Parts: sequence; C-alpha cells; structure tokens
Amino acid sequence: MLVLLLTAALLLASFAWAEPLLPNELGRVMILEYHKIDYPEERWTRTPENFRRDLETLYARGYRLLGLNDLLDGRVALPAGTTPVVLTFDDSSPGQFRYLERGGALELDPKSAVGILEAFARARPDFGRAATFFVLPGAAPPNRLFNQPAHAGAKLRWLARHGYEIGNHTLWHANLGQYGETTVRAQLAEAQQWIRRHVPDYRLRTLALPHGVYPKDVAWALAGAAKGETYRHDAILMVAGGAAPSRFARRFDPVRLPRIQAVGRELRAWLAHFAKHPEDRFVSDGDPGVVTVPAARRDQVRADLPKTLRVVER
Ligand SMILES: [Zn+2]
Repeated sequence: MLVLLLTAALLLASFAWAEPLLPNELGRVMILEYHKIDYPEERWTRTPENFRRDLETLYARGYRLLGLNDLLDGRVALPAGTTPVVLTFDDSSPGQFRYLERGGALELDPKSAVGILEAFARARPDFGRAATFFVLPGAAPPNRLFNQPAHAGAKLRWLARHGYEIGNHTLWHANLGQYGETTVRAQLAEAQQWIRRHVPDYRLRTLALPHGVYPKDVAWALAGAAKGETYRHDAILMVAGGAAPSRFARRFDPVRLPRIQAVGRELRAWLAHFAKHPEDRFVSDGDPGVVTVPAARRDQVRADLPKTLRVVER
C-alpha cells in the first residue's frame, strides 16, 4: 500500500500539469524527422529557436529522448509515466552540426542542432541525449557530412562517442526506386564504407530512404554486400506516415517505420492528438525489463519479444 501511495505521489509530482498517465507500452511513439536547422523557417527548415522550442514543449509534456537503436532493441529505460520520442535528422546539412573557430579553438555552434541538443541536455539532464543522423558521405556540398570537410571525421566520431547514432541515407541521396540491384547495393555499402573510414567498424543499423522511395526489392536494402563491404539494416524509415506502432505491438514493422515531419503544423497536430487521446500514447512503466500493457489489449502484444522481457497486464 505504502509503495502504491509513494508511486502515486511521485507520478503526481512529475505531472502536476495533468492527470498522471498510466503505463501503456502498447501506445504509439513519435519518430520526428528534421531536415535543415537554419533560417528562415520553411517546409524543410526549422529555425534554431523553433527547434529549441520543440524540445521545451516535448519536455514539458512528459516526452523523453530514446535512441532509435534502443527502440529497435525494445530497451525503454525511461522513468514511469514518461513517453519516448525519437529524433532523426536527414541529409547532414550544415546547420545540423557546425563548429565555430574562436581564437584558434573549435566550439560547437550553439545554433546548430547538436549545439542546441547539448545545451538542452545540460539544462534538463532528465530529458536525455539521443538522436540519429542520417548522413550523406558522398553528396555534393552543402550536404556532404555537414559541409566542413576538415572536420567531417571528427564530427562523426564525436556523434558516435556522445550517445548519438549515425544512420544510412545512401551515398548521395539516390532514389532507390530508380536503380537496379547493383547500384542500390553499392549506394548502401559505400555509404557505410565511407563512414567507416572515419569511425572504424561502425555499423549503420538503420536506413532512412531518400524521398521515402523503396527499391524494387526491399531485400536489397535490408542486407547484403557490395564493394567489399557487408551491410545489414535492422530498420528502414519512411519519410511520413504518422506515429509509429509500439515496438512491442504486432503492428510494429521495422521494415516500414513511419515518421512525423517535424514542421510546426504537423508536430502541433500530433502533440494535440496525444493530449486528446492519451490512451494512444506510449507511456513507460519505469522498468526496462517489463512490458506493461492494458489487459484489454493483451492480444496485440507481438509473440517474438526479446526473451529478457516480461509482459504484465494492468
Ligand atoms: Zn534525405
């Protein structure tokens, strides 16, 4: 009883702004898709100020950062009552990760996405630190690895060392629906190869499809070898499709992971949706070893969960 009261008190304290949310690990998760962080605000551009505001809004509404790879592995180590949100950045444009030279020393541009994320993580450590960068190692400037050639390798290594993930977005943004098997495989293998020149042995676990277009045979994108490089993707991300089904739900399909384009209007609409329909929202139970689901939805849990996980009804 005491434990129950304490849990309730903790939940109330962290959600003074709203009714406490009951755990529901069959709820949906937002995988947000950012492109440019720059000026002015437009279809594919979020300003630094608006990006920072997005993080504030997410934090205030009980969302916490979860790495894409942790999501795929079913490892949701977030406090009870909070909701995972995944950040992704496509196309390695300069405003995503920029260094400034000040008096001979390099510092993170506080107006670049990584600078904003780092400052936010310092101010709100419980928000977490995670994002996946779907980079283009062979694109023309300004999209080649954040457009500071002298620092390209250092940036990739910095991301890998600081809890961020690097994902495959092909070598130079090839529309995979327009090419045959040889070119599709070369695009994927070479992207990994080019990244591994800077970060040895790094495995790109996820692929974001340029333009959201699948190759004629999805198997070409999932695993294979070309140019002496072996690749294997655990998930393929689309460019749209809304909130993703829970990793623990039968409906979860890692080969077709939907994303939400993080432009003002679409993000606002989804936040409003989850505020109005909290039962649709993934809410952590606080225990990464347990999958807590509403009893009425028990039949929606997938059969092939990792063996380390235990399903509990509420
Ligand atoms: Zn792209």
